[in-house]
Amino acid sequence: MSDCPLPHDADVVTLAHGAGGRTMARWLAERLAPRLGSDALRHDAAVLPGRIAVTTDASVVSPLFFPGGDIGRLAVIGAVNDLAVTGAVPEALTLALVLEEGLSLATLDRVLDSIADEARACGVRVVSGDTKVVERGHGDGVYAVTTGIGRVPEGVEVGPWRVAPGDVVLVSGDVGRHGLAVLAARGGLGFLDPLPSDLAPLHGTTAALREAGVDAHCLRDCTRGGLSAVLAEIAAAGGHDLVVEEGAVPVAGPVRAACEVLGLDPWQLACEGRLAAFVAADQADLALAVLRERRPEAARIGVVADGRGRVWLRDAFGGERELDRPAGAALPRIC
Ligand code: MG
Repeated sequence: MSDCPLPHDADVVTLAHGAGGRTMARWLAERLAPRLGSDALRHDAAVLPGRIAVTTDASVVSPLFFPGGDIGRLAVIGAVNDLAVTGAVPEALTLALVLEEGLSLATLDRVLDSIADEARACGVRVVSGDTKVVERGHGDGVYAVTTGIGRVPEGVEVGPWRVAPGDVVLVSGDVGRHGLAVLAARGGLGFLDPLPSDLAPLHGTTAALREAGVDAHCLRDCTRGGLSAVLAEIAAAGGHDLVVEEGAVPVAGPVRAACEVLGLDPWQLACEGRLAAFVAADQADLALAVLRERRPEAARIGVVADGRGRVWLRDAFGGERELDRPAGAALPRIC
């Protein structure tokens, strides 16, 4: 037997530490927040004095190109969406690229063109950046890190701390597409037809809600860990229970079919262009109408109730069970 013990699973970083499940949530709360401060975990973007919103996002998706998108668009949209769900209007980005020696310049051009096109479409400027190159075999072609900067309009405050019992929970479109699109690009869907990723900026949606007069209490883009992670995080952050109607969550037919074959839960698969909205009951119809103008399948999926920060799923017969939140994720490196 070796004198030098192998590290125990609990003592090293695992893929689960980046997967958006229970392992990551526990690590952030128990080891990161005590060192860096819990402000870093408060919401998707921080709001600084002067109503300046700041967020940062690392994209490590594999492969770099997938049905409906690529790492360049993902890097821009990831930051734009984290600003949008804080109520901010995105204005600028910084961009850091970590490139692997041997990456073809043509591939890099494709990624850069994608970044430029998406930034233009979102109305944000790339104002600063950095590039580093690591030796062949370190890194995986391209890692992209974006920092998003925006401004929160006067009178707007969006965050988990505003969620209150009686609020209604809405989802802006069908869930689970992005995770499956990346799996398809890895050849993991076999004969099943992939839908393209739902990758899309959400700042137009959040602006439409605001302009319609919706005072959203909380917005959260459903990324890693999918809708399940969003529900669990918002419930835990606010300390209220959520009661979600299982049948009300929209899932596209091909996504549901693929998930059944592969044993995946579409609620746990990442989206990159969907958000959950928590609004006062008397604003739910208005908010849903705004969401449905963009995605007709947007739906009212549940309510916030008194409780202790747990999520309950109610089936068609009125039975309730607690939401199962996995420790890690079935699919690593999807964003
Ligand atoms: Mg987010």
